[in-house]
Amino acid sequence: MFEPVLTQNIHRKDSERISTYLSHGGYQASRRALTEFTPDELIELVKQSGLRGRGGAGFPAGVKWSFMPKDPQVQKFLAVNTDEGEPGTFKDRHLVERDPHQVIEGVIITSYAIGATRAYVYIRGEFFLGVKRWIKAIADAYENGFLGSNIFGSKFNLDMSVHRGAGAYICGEETAMLESLEGKPGRPRMKPPYPTQSGLFSLPTIVHNIETLACVPHIISRGAEWFASIGTTESKGPKIFSVSGHINKPGNYELPLGTPLREIIFDHAGGIRNNNNLKSIIPGGASTPILTADQVDTPMAFETLEKAGSQLGTGGIVVMDETTCMVEVARRSTKFFAHESCGRCVPCRIGSLRLFETLERIESGQGLPDDIERALWIAENTDGNTFCPMGAALVNPARSTIMKFREEYEYHLTHKKCMVNTQ
Ligand code: SF4
Repeated sequence: MFEPVLTQNIHRKDSERISTYLSHGGYQASRRALTEFTPDELIELVKQSGLRGRGGAGFPAGVKWSFMPKDPQVQKFLAVNTDEGEPGTFKDRHLVERDPHQVIEGVIITSYAIGATRAYVYIRGEFFLGVKRWIKAIADAYENGFLGSNIFGSKFNLDMSVHRGAGAYICGEETAMLESLEGKPGRPRMKPPYPTQSGLFSLPTIVHNIETLACVPHIISRGAEWFASIGTTESKGPKIFSVSGHINKPGNYELPLGTPLREIIFDHAGGIRNNNNLKSIIPGGASTPILTADQVDTPMAFETLEKAGSQLGTGGIVVMDETTCMVEVARRSTKFFAHESCGRCVPCRIGSLRLFETLERIESGQGLPDDIERALWIAENTDGNTFCPMGAALVNPARSTIMKFREEYEYHLTHKKCMVNTQ
């Protein structure tokens, strides 16, 4: 039986309060980390744990930390990504609203390991309660001596503050987030240089998703071996999966990486609504390619989803039953991405709009005979030809639904109506 750790405190009364956190052993891990470990030992520990980023890219956290320059004279930053905007994903909001101190502990330990004395939280502007909770939690951490100067008598200093985003999806991309933190329009930067070389204000910066940071205190208190014993060969540790859509019990479920989709959907999330048949699954947020019902035994891990033709992404699982029109799914998702394109490069700015228009035409029964090929052509010419990964992301809904449910597109073209929603 798996024992949740990241969401353990969340279910307690007043879980967001520092008093609740402290009464259950809070801030012991950061105290240990700062008084018993050197920064290099912490980096090694996190490398051994196998922790990979939980924001989508899945880069090994310890390796990222080791890229930071060691020169103590160079100012370094930690940027805390709470700009959760991927449709189908709501785990970070849950973490910050219900257990911000767990993340602050992760911030303290990570900052100490990488030599950062300043941590900036970037939070999605619409998370009103999250902003409030972050500000209160940081103030309480200062009051208790967990932030500020000489933390735990270790001579390590760390300041932390909150910056509210203005509602742009692309600011979840690390370099766009850094631009926005600097007060500029949130548009991705060219990489390289990577943020660890030239990040915030052109200084070395590590950007981490808050679920990644929430894992860190548990690695200190329970050990790297414990963390690495959970999950699969390439995907270690616990993961919070957001489950939504045509499901009986939508919500966040913390389970080991590698848990099969079938177990998540049917054993934990209560199965499909009205006992309908499962039709399709988005496994990692709207930007990941869809899976079909016969792929429901796929384990939710980085490597297995890649093998299945999709991605783990954020772990935002959207379940769709037999009443779902896949053309509509693609059209709605593409509309979102077209709206969120930052406009910097043509294939994304124009390609997303043309793709949306094509899908809208097909869905409404006004499709042209070559519209399916047109949609695929746009996808082909957008993916890989854009400045940031949004180009690849935005074509996934259309391309994967055409590949897996082409007959629905053809029915729309031939019969001028949907084969699923017949009214
Ligand atoms: Fe902006 Fe889209 Fe280009 Fe990314 S791919 S830089 S979001 S226009």
